[in-house]
Amino acid sequence: MIPFHKTYITGNEKALIDRVISSGSLSGNGAFTEKCHDFFQTEFGFKKVLLTNSCTDALEMCALLLDIKQGDEIILPSYTFVSTANAFFNYGAKPVFIDSEENNPNMDADKIEAKITPETKAIVVMHYAGIACEMNKIKSLAKKHNLKIIEDAALGLGSKYQNEWLGGFGDLAAFSFHQTKNITCGEGGLLVINNPEYFAKAEIIWEKGTNRSAFLRGESDKYEWVSKGSSFLTSEIHAAFLFAQLTSFRDIQTKRISLWNKYKNELKNNAFFKVPETTDDKIKNGSVFYLILKNEGLVDAFIQFMKENGVVVSKHYRCLHDSIFYKNQFSSEKLINCQKIASQLVRLPLYTDLTDEEQNEIIKLTKKFFN
Ligand SMILES: *Cc1c(COP(=O)(O)O)cnc(C)c1O
Repeated sequence: MIPFHKTYITGNEKALIDRVISSGSLSGNGAFTEKCHDFFQTEFGFKKVLLTNSCTDALEMCALLLDIKQGDEIILPSYTFVSTANAFFNYGAKPVFIDSEENNPNMDADKIEAKITPETKAIVVMHYAGIACEMNKIKSLAKKHNLKIIEDAALGLGSKYQNEWLGGFGDLAAFSFHQTKNITCGEGGLLVINNPEYFAKAEIIWEKGTNRSAFLRGESDKYEWVSKGSSFLTSEIHAAFLFAQLTSFRDIQTKRISLWNKYKNELKNNAFFKVPETTDDKIKNGSVFYLILKNEGLVDAFIQFMKENGVVVSKHYRCLHDSIFYKNQFSSEKLINCQKIASQLVRLPLYTDLTDEEQNEIIKLTKKFFN
């Protein structure tokens, strides 16, 4: 059986966790947190980063940093994970959903401007499969209407748009280290703060609304309640696990990108499916490989055929605008591209330990089914 996903373990995780245990310092904002922060700052040039317990946490921090209130509106794709919306909805914002592009799950940048109102606070982008959204268009819209940009870059670590790392475009950006992502610590995330306006405030919100970070740096002789906040910081146990993975970051990415490229080279667009579109200015990270099939019936038949032949392939998100939770409270229009993609997209197994033989088998079966 070839599973859809397998967790990659570098082998260094236990030793680093042992060091945390021996040190007796298990709580957050310690030595391994700092090592992870250094890694992201050095590797990607991010100015300020904070490890969180999840990408969902990092997105909630964005809502707190933007001071989201009842009545605010947030523009976001409908084709995304629920946290992209919930993080802002939890603080009172109304999600305003944008359709996907015709043959690309990413939100259609040309459909954003018509949805901007005086209540709009931010545009939240999500780079599906680590393939960048049209950031030039989105940046100029945000500038024109004085809106913040938040990147849900959960699937975007190590991808680029026009030579710049994803996560570097928004005022704020969020990454995920959930088990299913390229780099993991089980549950984990990262907030990237690109807009200096938020540097100090983010640290406070992260540390439960206190100025403990400044205190730890010796900038204050006590710490206390200074703002709203919550416990968003990661324990050192998770940070150590994550750091072990980060030391293999380049190898993991290289392997995943080569698997992605092989799928792309072997499986060509035809009457039954389309493969992801990429352009030279969008460098991807091998996070997700998908096919968009001709119709929904074909999806179920393909999943069934692969299962009978020992391979698990999987659909992905449902449209958020079409979810029970949203539809029960708000009227929603049809977003046809998103609905099409939600029902016609299938992901193939893609994980660091996928062997050549396994991938050849997946490709062979896929070709067989569609021939
Ligand atoms: C995985 C994922 C999340 C959630 O990440 P967590 O770390 O599990 O909170 C959010 N958005 C997108 C697009 C994701 O793929």
